[in-house]
Amino acid sequence: MAAAEETTPAELQRLLEVQKAALRERGPPSVRERERRLDVMVQLLLANEDDLVAAVTADFGVRPREVTRFADVLMALEAFKAARAGVRSWCRPERRRVDFPFNVVGATNSVEYQPKGVVGVVAPWNYPIMLLLTPVASAFAAGDAVLLKPSELAPRTALLIARLVNGAYDESIARVVLGGPETSAALAALPLDHLVFTGSTRVGKLVAAACARNLTPTTLELGGKCPVIVGRRADVTACAKRVVHGKILNSGQTCLAPDYVFVEESVRDAFVEAFERTIADMFPHGVLGSGDYASIISAAHGDRLRALVAEAKSAGCRVIECRGGAADDAPSDAARRVAPTLILDAGDTLRVSSEEIFGPLLVVRTYARLADALSYIAARPKPLALYYLGPDRAEERRVLDAVASGGVTVNDTVMHCGQEDLPFGGVGASGHGRTRGRDGFRELSNVRGVHRQIGHAGLSQLVLDGLYPPYDRAG
Ligand code: NAD
Repeated sequence: MAAAEETTPAELQRLLEVQKAALRERGPPSVRERERRLDVMVQLLLANEDDLVAAVTADFGVRPREVTRFADVLMALEAFKAARAGVRSWCRPERRRVDFPFNVVGATNSVEYQPKGVVGVVAPWNYPIMLLLTPVASAFAAGDAVLLKPSELAPRTALLIARLVNGAYDESIARVVLGGPETSAALAALPLDHLVFTGSTRVGKLVAAACARNLTPTTLELGGKCPVIVGRRADVTACAKRVVHGKILNSGQTCLAPDYVFVEESVRDAFVEAFERTIADMFPHGVLGSGDYASIISAAHGDRLRALVAEAKSAGCRVIECRGGAADDAPSDAARRVAPTLILDAGDTLRVSSEEIFGPLLVVRTYARLADALSYIAARPKPLALYYLGPDRAEERRVLDAVASGGVTVNDTVMHCGQEDLPFGGVGASGHGRTRGRDGFRELSNVRGVHRQIGHAGLSQLVLDGLYPPYDRAG
């Protein structure tokens, strides 16, 4: 990114002051105005879909257009449509019960939703449109202004979104700021009213520390290792197909991608074969030259993944590279192409076992007793997502109760993320706070309890007088 395009700390400060002043002077935007802001983004996404898809493709090198259309543009679009449909009812104050002694004097209780103010959004590169914009749907519904920082690793997408968003909204409502990690850090250091950060657990800790200095509330959407459990009575072939889809989507560069899978010992080989066969069916002309299979975002990340495989190989693990059907043409960007790879018999000290993989490698583990798999998972940092595949509802309940996770998909992988009416987020090391739908609206609102008493004297005052001194009335 050229230095001229980078937003300076002074400009960040100025934008924050402009947005805070606008909220102070104009008060909370009306529901009609919130709907207008949401409508503008819907139109923006629809009118610019092709350019957005082209920008993401250019940033990745190879990435199926269908993936960008569905998982970036359409998912962002759905967030704005859902917020547009829900905002009027979400904003409505809720009546609550009145507790003794105030209930005898005609008092009422309600919960109101006030805009928090200025919300910062810092996003990663892996779904560079969806992850930057979905929090904006919640923020606009809540009446907030936004300062958005796209990832520097998807620079063409960042520039295009900046041009589109900055051209569509007044700076008092939304601004996209540009730059590298320093700009993200400068944004996180501002006295924002809320920050939504999506990225790695490592950077999430830095962001949380920076926000703590201003007591800025945070939503942290972080990474981790999402486990899959294939149940004892599951159809292993059907399961393998669904695990493959979650793993190869964006070549595993998905926060929700299955990181390791537990299968019963006796069906491990059947699972591995079904996994390989599925890849061969999906990529009859080979994976590595296929336009249906995304590149790794950078050669450095490609090297990181190859190093994980090399370490596993030298430790004696069985490594199965799934290269699909016929032989590949040599891809032009070989440094950024990594085939789906299964790693068996991985010891706990290997990096592939302890670090988030964030690529198309999948560790296959086995269990003799389901309890052992559950205690392995539960002893590790709480994952963003948990997947159980199998027909046994009692076993499913047992798995869901034994392992805490941010979200769950049963009988598939990654798919809960497309559900606008489900809260999305992590727990523990995979983050905190919720985005999407009504839950995202609440997260970015100041949820305020309002207790209203009858103002005039009379019966109400008589009851209240009982609470005031002097207490020793008899004396
Ligand atoms: P990253 O943490 O390296 O970068 C994310 C953002 O943080 C970037 O925009 C970067 O500019 C910014 N940043 C870097 N240093 C910073 C600092 N000191 N202070 C403030 N901001 C800083 O992550 P990445 O490589 O872009 O994305 C991959 C990670 O994101 C993976 O761990 C993945 O699991 C996670 N992720 C999580 C979700 C989710 O919803 N939970 C979604 C997508 C990705």
